[in-house]
Formats: sequence, structure tokens, C-alpha cells
Amino acid sequence: SDDVRRQKIENRVAKMRLSAATARKIQDVFISEMNKGIHQQPSSLQMENTYIPELLDGTEEGLYLALDLGGTNFRVVLLELAHGAPIREEVKRYYIGSELRVGSAIPLFDHLAESVSDFVISQGLQDVELPLGFTFSFPMIQHSLDVGVLVTWTKTFNCPDAVNKDAVRLLREALDRRGDTKVKVLAVLNDTTGTLVQGSTLDHNTAVGLILGTGSNACYLERADRVEHWETERHGEREVIIDIEWGAFGDNGVLDFIKTDFDRENDANSLIVNSFTFEKYIAGKYLGEVVRVILAKLTKERLLFVGDSTSDSLLTPGNLTTDLVSHIEQDSLDGGDSNTKEILAKFGIIPDEDDIRIVQYVCEVASNRAALLVSICLASLIDRIDKEQVTIAVDGSLYKHHPRLEGWMKQYISLLCTSGRKFKLIHAEDGSGKGAALVSAIAHRLK
Ligand code: ADP
Repeated sequence: SDDVRRQKIENRVAKMRLSAATARKIQDVFISEMNKGIHQQPSSLQMENTYIPELLDGTEEGLYLALDLGGTNFRVVLLELAHGAPIREEVKRYYIGSELRVGSAIPLFDHLAESVSDFVISQGLQDVELPLGFTFSFPMIQHSLDVGVLVTWTKTFNCPDAVNKDAVRLLREALDRRGDTKVKVLAVLNDTTGTLVQGSTLDHNTAVGLILGTGSNACYLERADRVEHWETERHGEREVIIDIEWGAFGDNGVLDFIKTDFDRENDANSLIVNSFTFEKYIAGKYLGEVVRVILAKLTKERLLFVGDSTSDSLLTPGNLTTDLVSHIEQDSLDGGDSNTKEILAKFGIIPDEDDIRIVQYVCEVASNRAALLVSICLASLIDRIDKEQVTIAVDGSLYKHHPRLEGWMKQYISLLCTSGRKFKLIHAEDGSGKGAALVSAIAHRLK
């Protein structure tokens, strides 16, 4: 009967539903990995020093640039600041052809420099000295605020001769080859750091930056005396932004106790197996695939779509994107089924009432687990940060568009914070653009 089927399905996905005890265990592991990372012991958390020792202090004035590479768009941003706050913003998107994304790095960086000059000249600013913050959203090792060595390319980029090179230096050399502007590259950062700094202009209690987009990562304000890895001379800094790089949390096996057979298949279908473990549980690039893997298994095990022939399309990795999960979750919230039916129809499936409920249930289980996992880590950060109130600045399409994540996160963070500290989640749009220009303003003031 239907009740029996429902029960079987709940049992089949039971390992996706993390108990309170498991949540505590994950929290302990996360805290332990953070401490190891910050003490430079082996850990799946890199805990990178960003060398950003403070936020805006309200004295920053004038014009600042950002170059944003590695997100969905490549852009140049100009920000005008008065009293440390943005009063004007100009943005231009540029196209990077696929031929530039692979091969030698020189043509790629020449193109970046050409785009910067084109933008600066179009603004009539070629004779003005302009600080620039470079958002370079790839794995890098930072040696100082303006030295970022590329560890490996990701996404659609692959220019092997840039690996192990400083991205700032490659950009400066390309700008020097042109010599037609007075742009000064002062800082290199990733989108998470930009989001924290951008958030701090909206809410001065901001101490955490979070990305929930294609990938996921977070950074936070750490006490400087806790940070061992510090290559430059210290100047009595009290705080510094630490980039956790939590996408790789669990790559060393410490999270294996929550891994399900669905996660193993999701991993096997990914480009690089046994890496980005945490990201594969939570981020936009993978959440749809987790749902698809579960649905495909339930179908093969004859627990789902039993009245219909199997859909080849649903059995193909990558075919169920995370935006579809959001649409199905919207149905669950509304108590409706129109989105769910429409999406399944595109897969060539005509579901019965029960199938619809099961598909919605699977989307809920996968989304809910993502919300809980993110919240476990955020609660640990809030407890760690020595402030009366902590605001978390969030950006990314998954957070923005998923209809239930934010609500769940608020609920779970409250439950998991042992300090009972007040917290807030705010949406900080465009940290990778605006945030980078703001970081260049901080760097300029500190020079
Ligand atoms: P990026 O992280 O690449 O800089 P975004 O923050 O826009 O850019 O994230 C894009 C990712 O967000 C997509 O890969 C997709 O997985 C996810 N996404 C897009 N739309 C939605 C949606 N409606 N609901 C949930 N996730 C979405």
C-alpha cells in the first residue's frame, strides 16, 4: 500500500536526516578542524590568512576599482566612497572567450588588463591613481594582502603556466605592458571575503561572510593573537579575516560518518572525486545532483514512478539542476504541485499523487540537510567570535532563491549556538565586486 511505500522510502533516506547527536558530533569535528588549521596542523580546513586586519573606519574617500574574475561574470567595478560608504557605483561586464580560458596565461591577463583600461578610459580616469582590489575566486595561497599564488585552476579555466604564480603579479605585469592607466593593484581576495566587507557597510556587527552559490565558503573575523600563520611583519593587528575554505571540509575523511550511498554516487559523478566533500553536500553545483541520485535510486529500486517507464533523462548525471529543487520546494511551501508536475513532465514523467509527494519529500530532505550542515558551522563561528552580536553577510543564488534555506538556518543556528549570542543573517549583494573595491580602500588607507 501507499503507507508501506512511504515508510520504505523514509527508511531508504533515513541516513540523510541527521539527528541532534550527529549534529553535535559534526560541530565538534568542525571546531577541531578549525583549530588544527589555524595552528597549521594537518586539517581539511585551510584557514587562510587574508591579511585584511580591519574593516572600513568611515574615513575612506574617493574612487576605487575592483576586478572580479572567477564568478559567473567577469566584471570591472568602480566605487566612489564618501565617509567609508559607497555613494556611486559603475559596473561593466566583459566577455572572456573560451580560447582565452585555456592555454598560456599571458593572453588571458592581457585581456583582463585591456578590460580594466577600457573601463578606466571610458570613465575618463586614465590619469587618476586608482587602487584596485582583485577578486580572484580560485584556490590560492596568500603571502600578504597583495600576493596570491594560484594553487589550481577550477571551473572553465585552465592556463597551466599560471599555476604556482602570483595572480597579482601577472595582472600588474599585464597592466604595465599597456601602461595606459594609473591603476594600482593593492589587494587580492575571494568572493567570501568581499562579502564580509560589503556586509559590514550594511551592518556594523558583520563578522562572518558566507557564500551559497555554485560553491560554498565562509570567512570570519578572528583574533589576531590566535593566528599563527602570518608571513608579513605584524603591526599590532587585533583582528584579521580568516578564509576557512570550508568547501573542502571532510576531504581527509573526518566527515565520513555522515556519508550516504547517495553522496558516494554524487562524488563519483563529479569531476574530481574525494575533494570538496562539504561543498558536495550543500552547494548549488551539487544539491540538484544529490536529489537526482536519490530519485534515480528510488526509481531503480521500484519505489518511485512505478506506474511509468523509467526516464532516461532522470538517470543522466547533471540533469537536475538546483534551481529545480527550489521550484519543487516552493510547491511544498504552498502545498501545491504545479512546479513539481511541470518539472517531471520535462523529464518525460507523468507522476501519480504519491510520486509527487515523494519527489517533494526528497527535495526537502536534501535541502534540509544542507541548511543544517551550514548552520552547524555558522553556529560554531558565532560562538567563537568575541562579540555581543554577530551578523552573517550572505551572498549567492542558492541562498537568494531557495525558498526555505534562510528560515531553516535561522532556526538551526539558534538551536546550535551554545553561547546564546544574538545573530542576524543579512543579504550582502555583490561582495565579489563592491567588496573588492572596499578592500582596496582599506588597503590604501593602511599603506
Ligand atoms: P557564482 O556562485 O557562480 O558566483 P551565483 O551565486 O549566481 O554565482 O550561483 C550560481 C549557482 O546558484 C548555480 O550554479 C545554481 O546551482 C544555483 N542557483 C541558481 N538559481 C537557483 C535557484 N533558483 N535556486 C537555487 N539555486 C540556484
